[in-house]
Amino acid sequence: MIIVPESAIAGLLTADDCFTAIEQVFAAMARKTAYNFPVIREAIGHADALYGFKSGFDRESLALGLKSGGFWPGNAVKGLTNHQSTVFLFDADTGRCRAVLGGNLLTALRTAAASAISIKYLARRDARVLGMIGAGHQSAFQLRAALKQRPFDRVVAWNYHPDMLDRLAQVAQECGVGFEAVDLDRLGAEADVIITITSSFSPSLMAAQVRPGTHLACMGTDTKGKQEVEAELVAAATVFTDEVAQSISIGEAQHAAARGLIAEAAIVEIGAVINGAHPGRTADSEITLFDGTGVGLQDLAVASAAVEAAIAKGVAVEVDF
Ligand code: NAD
Repeated sequence: MIIVPESAIAGLLTADDCFTAIEQVFAAMARKTAYNFPVIREAIGHADALYGFKSGFDRESLALGLKSGGFWPGNAVKGLTNHQSTVFLFDADTGRCRAVLGGNLLTALRTAAASAISIKYLARRDARVLGMIGAGHQSAFQLRAALKQRPFDRVVAWNYHPDMLDRLAQVAQECGVGFEAVDLDRLGAEADVIITITSSFSPSLMAAQVRPGTHLACMGTDTKGKQEVEAELVAAATVFTDEVAQSISIGEAQHAAARGLIAEAAIVEIGAVINGAHPGRTADSEITLFDGTGVGLQDLAVASAAVEAAIAKGVAVEVDF
């Protein structure tokens, strides 16, 4: 069995490697050769923690396994990350445990890859202004990956806690693009692409604030009850997602679906666009919205790539198991 500690992940995978791995697994999901198993998520009644598993199997790559993870709100005072993830991969031919990997950085990279893929396939070609809503841990990864998808020249950003916006200003500076903190009216009026990556339980961005032709990647809503944009905005958009079942139950589309503003059948798997089975955006005036809910197969895809890289670089730690 191979062990890849959290500290080794950064040296093994680039954002581009993750983009390729996630693009392939989204395509396999749409071909129905890869599927996610039901998600388990429980409040364990200890340390205020939420704990669960995301798992699946990709019959094309033979990636089989799970990500065990959760949220421990008391970790910050112990100097630890609140979100804790570990990925387990199994040999699809024998069921033996093949690898255990730290999953924290992998989670950020695979989540950023998902929204970047949506920008590649769904944003207008002439998109030049990127809007960011949210400035927490995931946001810097989101921004870096998004900036590679179009020749963006400016970032406009808003966060519920404005003091956190420095994180995004720094990334924009490193990437050589302009940065401005703005209110949500200006953000919607100026951005061609908007990423939302907050832990909010009520909408920040309203339908009236968004222009025709905008592409939105809503990445923060991954739990029942969370919400980043007004349900009417979801209803006004052509909605794409990683997995339709999650989109309407725990994703950004849950509220529009519950109110009957959007039909499940109208939501398109992003993999269908990658495969060429769906045209994606069909007009410059169309609002497209990617509901990135986060699926176990994403974790298995980037973890598999990390294991291959560890073996190729001769840094894989092998133990008898
Ligand atoms: P974080 O705790 O580091 O940051 C939280 C962000 O939400 C901050 O910008 C904060 O200011 C903002 N926020 C908090 N309360 C708010 C409110 N009431 N209204 C508006 N904004 C508010 O979290 P993170 O690690 O950056 O994760 C952000 C979100 O992304 C979380 O909801 C997390 O569960 C989700 N997430 C999704 C995926 C996926 O695959 N889709 C993967 C990882 C994380």
